[in-house]
Amino acid sequence: MDCRTVLKLNDRYLAEGLPDGVLAQYLEHIASCDSCHDNLMTDYSITKAIDQLNRNEDFSTDYSKELTEKLEKSRQYLARKKRIVRYKHAIAVILMVLSVPFSMSSTFATAKYYKPEGSEESLKLKYYGMPEQLDPIRQAIREYNDEAITKLREK
Ligand SMILES: [Zn+2]
Repeated sequence: MDCRTVLKLNDRYLAEGLPDGVLAQYLEHIASCDSCHDNLMTDYSITKAIDQLNRNEDFSTDYSKELTEKLEKSRQYLARKKRIVRYKHAIAVILMVLSVPFSMSSTFATAKYYKPEGSEESLKLKYYGMPEQLDPIRQAIREYNDEAITKLREK
C-alpha cells in the first residue's frame, strides 16, 4: 500500500470502517512510514477535537498516546482474527484425518459365507462399513457367547 492510498483511508480507519484485509496492509504501512503516521496523528487529533467540542468535553491532553493505543487495539484485533482462522483450519484438518478410515471402510463391500445350522447351502453375506462393528457373524457369535456365559453363571 502506498502513501497516497493510506492518506485516503485515514478517515475510514478512524471510523473503524476498514475491512480486515485492507486494515492489515494499512497498519503495516502506518507502522513503517513516519510521514503517514504523522498525517494520521493530525487527522486523529482534528477528529477527536471536533468530537469533544460537539460533546462539550474537555480536550484530551495526549492524542499521541490515545492513537498509539488505538493502533495497538487494531493490531490485537487482527491477531485474534488470524488465530481463529488458524484454529478453524486445524479443526478442518483433524476432521478430514478422522473421516478417512470411515470413508475407506465404507467404500468396500465385504462378503462372508455363512452356513446356518441345519442348512445345506451357505449364505453369502455382504456388509459395508466398519468390519468389526457391522459384521453379522461376529455379532451372532458374540450374542451366543453372552448367552452361554449367562447360562454357565446361572449354574
Ligand atoms: Zn507512507
